[in-house]
Amino acid sequence: MTSFLHPPLSAWPHCSAKPVKLQVTNSAMATLHRGHPWLYAERIKSESHQGQPGDLAVVFDGKRRFVAVGLYDPLSAIRMRALRTSKPGPIDRAFFAERIALALARRLPLLTTGTDGYRMIHGESDGIPGMAVDRYGETAVVKLYTHAWLPHLRDFLEILLEQQPLTRIVLRLSRGMKQYPEELRGLADGHLLYGEPITAPLTFRENGLHFEVDPVHGQKTGFFLDQRDNRARVEQLAAGKRVLNAFSYNGGFSVAAARGGALEVTSLDQSGPALASSRRNFALNAEVPAIAAAHHLTIEDDAFNAMAELLKQGRKYDLVIIDPPAFAVRRTQVKEALASYGRLAHLGVSLLTAGGDIVLASCSSPVSPGAFRQTMCDAAIRAGRPLSRIVETGHALDHPLDFAESRYLKCLFAKA
Ligand code: SAH
Repeated sequence: MTSFLHPPLSAWPHCSAKPVKLQVTNSAMATLHRGHPWLYAERIKSESHQGQPGDLAVVFDGKRRFVAVGLYDPLSAIRMRALRTSKPGPIDRAFFAERIALALARRLPLLTTGTDGYRMIHGESDGIPGMAVDRYGETAVVKLYTHAWLPHLRDFLEILLEQQPLTRIVLRLSRGMKQYPEELRGLADGHLLYGEPITAPLTFRENGLHFEVDPVHGQKTGFFLDQRDNRARVEQLAAGKRVLNAFSYNGGFSVAAARGGALEVTSLDQSGPALASSRRNFALNAEVPAIAAAHHLTIEDDAFNAMAELLKQGRKYDLVIIDPPAFAVRRTQVKEALASYGRLAHLGVSLLTAGGDIVLASCSSPVSPGAFRQTMCDAAIRAGRPLSRIVETGHALDHPLDFAESRYLKCLFAKA
């Protein structure tokens, strides 16, 4: 079959026909039996030979019974990501077609909500470990977390294109993958894999709102799709309010608050380009009377400094949203991260009018929901503004949580 994907992907060599056979520790076997797809290198007792990224690896138990088959990656501490556990079966186009169809079926409820920007495939939780695929209208953005997908990506994307009417596919690479550029054979972060280059700003819809997105240079794949439901909740809270949106990025929460009837929305971010994008996102939705009527202000500054400054000036808000970047990616960073979340919560509640609403989010996966909630509550008490009517929310429907490590987003709604 001739591929319609762009080189070098269309010319990528196939993986070796010979799978790597692995013997692993009992605890690793138990983990795989439970359906957890990660096999760490240090849990491997013996390998039949040193494979290449993307070779299939098969794990057998001491009695030579099948445990798992997955994608092998000698460049990653996660040496194998399992695709099938407990029951053997081929890893081929039919397998990819089945997994893709299941993932897309889970997202069907979104299609009646005026939403064409969502996560189509959420890695491990959709049985497609090491890969996320977001769509923005007819553009898909494939984010890879392992070189092991590269020999299979042509087949995978051809099947995705059979199931979805996409006109463009953009590749994004994880930080770990960018450390081995020589293994990428000319592929790079932001590379166009299919379709025409992006020449005009790309837009998509979320709950009927229009947003621009830059999938080539933007953070993550360009937009924080995981916060969709929380943005909708903010919209419901915003009528008649003055709103502060700290770490606003391209203004997702700000535009939602404006449609909800906020009188004034302040987007605060240290990035000038992110704030410029938030202003364009207001303009894109100007046909919504509430959005045209809302007064949108931007502050370009460090959020900790700016909130302290606003406090000094005696400014008050009825609704404060604080959704910072991840402060912890490793367990050793949790303590420091919690201290930063606590400082932000303290500043946030202090800026609230009596009985105002606060929204606090954390996307640091090593920070547990319990520790986050406790830290937020303690900080609010220290500020003399204890939280009440706390509601804990998390990911939207397109970010299913079938896999513990994918539970990164925590969000608290409360009054103070
Ligand atoms: N709340 C956003 C996502 C936040 S992403 C949404 O719903 O889409 C994190 C944002 O925080 C980025 O835009 C980044 O520019 C900004 N940022 C990071 N550190 C910051 C700091 N110390 N002060 C202000 N903004 C910061």
